Amino acid sequence: MTFRSYLESGGTTCPKCGSKAIKASAPPEKTGPGQVQVSMLCATCGARWRDTYILSKSEEL
Ligand SMILES: [Zn+2]
Repeated sequence: MTFRSYLESGGTTCPKCGSKAIKASAPPEKTGPGQVQVSMLCATCGARWRDTYILSKSEEL
């Protein structure tokens, strides 16, 4: 697995070992206009990385 394939799969499996046992290790953090970063953790191999989300849609609830 690589970060490229991680992105292509929509961030569903660990970029290092391919495990699906990944989760956010901290609450999402707003880091800029329309941008949020999430610290991620793999429970299988212990890898840590950071995902960046860009605002793409907004609707009233
Ligand atoms: Zn892993």
